[in-house]
Amino acid sequence: MSDIIHLLPDSVANQIAAGEVIQRPASAVKELLENAVDAGADDIKLIIKDAGKTLIQVIDNGCGMSETDARMAFERHATSKINNAEDLFAIKTLGFRGEALASIAAIAQVELKTKRVEDEVGICIKIEGSEVKSQEPCSSTNGTSFSIKNLFYNIPARRKFLKSNNTELRHIIEEFQRVALVYPEIRFSFFNETRQLFQLEKSGLKQRIASLFGTAYNTKLVPVEQKTDLVNISGFIGKPEFAKKTRGEQYFFVNGRFIKHPYLNHAVNNAFKELIPSDAFPTYFIYFELNPDEIDINIHPTKTEVNFENNQVIYAMLSSAVKQALGKFNLTPSIDFDVERGIDITPLPRSTEIKQPTVNIDESYNPFEVEAKRENKPAFHPDKPDTRNWQKLYGEKDFTQNRQENTNHPEENASFGFIPENKEPETESGTVFQLHNKYIVSSVKSGLLIIDQQRAHERILFERFLKKLDSRKGTSQQQLFPVTIQFSPSDAEILKEINDELKILGFDIEDFGENTFIVNGNPAEMNNRDIKGVLEGIIENFKKHLKDIAKDKKVNLARSMAVNLSIKQGRKLQAEEIKSLIDQLFACRMPEVSPDGKPTLRILTMDYLNEKFD
Ligand code: ADP
Ligand code: MG
Repeated sequence: MSDIIHLLPDSVANQIAAGEVIQRPASAVKELLENAVDAGADDIKLIIKDAGKTLIQVIDNGCGMSETDARMAFERHATSKINNAEDLFAIKTLGFRGEALASIAAIAQVELKTKRVEDEVGICIKIEGSEVKSQEPCSSTNGTSFSIKNLFYNIPARRKFLKSNNTELRHIIEEFQRVALVYPEIRFSFFNETRQLFQLEKSGLKQRIASLFGTAYNTKLVPVEQKTDLVNISGFIGKPEFAKKTRGEQYFFVNGRFIKHPYLNHAVNNAFKELIPSDAFPTYFIYFELNPDEIDINIHPTKTEVNFENNQVIYAMLSSAVKQALGKFNLTPSIDFDVERGIDITPLPRSTEIKQPTVNIDESYNPFEVEAKRENKPAFHPDKPDTRNWQKLYGEKDFTQNRQENTNHPEENASFGFIPENKEPETESGTVFQLHNKYIVSSVKSGLLIIDQQRAHERILFERFLKKLDSRKGTSQQQLFPVTIQFSPSDAEILKEINDELKILGFDIEDFGENTFIVNGNPAEMNNRDIKGVLEGIIENFKKHLKDIAKDKKVNLARSMAVNLSIKQGRKLQAEEIKSLIDQLFACRMPEVSPDGKPTLRILTMDYLNEKFD
């Protein structure tokens, strides 16, 4: 058979790459506007026809390009903005990947006219589907004009995919506003066909907001200001009485880029919490300026997500800044303001490494002991073994009953053959120890008791969670810093489905839309575990058993939680923990099987051992 791998023609490769950057007319608008800003223009004009589907034109009075640069600009990875990898860490411009023009030229008919101040004549280049059609001198004003005609003309499938003109226009307006909100010192005009949608004169930020969203904003806004070594926060928030029932004007910008940040959004919402109805959304235009190396620059040009090195510190600062703004303008009840003076955060000097906050752990703390106390039982004491629950081991009726109920695991029942029945409840005052950080071994009257620590703890947690779900009462430990987690769409669906139950189990999870959730609180059993990992584990486990229709949701969820939060094999246990684990295990309804139906314990009887030594 002949070889079958071949390279895609450039035109196809370019089209595929273009799809990443240009998804719709609004993406082209964004790229062109940003290029004009980067070129130092202070007057930018946007003209569109047919919601950008037939024409997008951006005219600027920026630096313009030389003839060679004008030609180079359309090459992939051609950029004047960075020279080497180090530059990536100090990006001040909006573009830097050198992909936008190459992408646009691959999927549209492009005309570029440009002229630098120092040049006599300008240059006009026409490109269609990455192919240069003409390049000639032309008369031009200083600056650059890009006309993008018939976007996706050569990819009919993509063109068909575009939404109605109304929808596409809405996206374009949104992109336009996001740029205009960052550069009030630039004059912008925006024409749709012949109708002028916006005429934004050079102004201050507040005036710019009012020109974009209505003059009423002049009286609706309150400034926000917080300057620290780490970050400068500035901008405006809407007074609480103007909060909207729809998610309206909510804008975050980081170093001049619009971003979405559910976690920081949460900080603002929280600050507004008592001041607006729970179904209303605060308005905000908030700008963060910080050293580029505090930001994860590995962001895709079309993505609006951004990661900060110091997410939690910025959360705290933002929260404080918004509260102060609300307080300063007497927007909070004064009593609140007295208490809430805003946090005084003195950032560490630049050179110091910022460490994750450490949690002091009380080594002697025994969660089982607390549990025992709450249930009004004496905690297990090492030198005074508690025999109450051990009795079940020795064939008390309920233990035998449990075993009989358990007939859906016949193979498990068979393996319990070692357990002697109808014996007097008695213990051997022997030692209890941990074997290979996996088993708990103890001498009992009839022989040797071996408990699988992980499965035993799963059983304990399973019954506890099931009980909570039945009683519908649960308590949650509030997180000091809520955690934002994004899930895959299918996992997000599952999370929504089980969120009510998770709440009873102690989680406090808010759905922020777009598969993003904020975890405000978690069950005490979490013990500093990584929340994301645990939730993913729970979802995964829940999914695995979804098909099993015989299992009801509560059982499935309690089991998933138990499996994920249990003490694992390999964990060294303190003597207290061991005793308590045994105590709690035998307080369970079915101590001898894990929630997955596997044995939690075995007894090697004396008879069995004697036989082995025969
Ligand atoms: P990037 O913006 O990431 O550098 P682009 O493909 O958007 O990549 O642009 C490529 C280059 O073309 C820019 O680096 C810049 O030098 C030049 N350029 C693009 N638009 C303009 C403009 N409006 N005025 C002047 N130069 C421009
Ligand atoms: Mg660019």
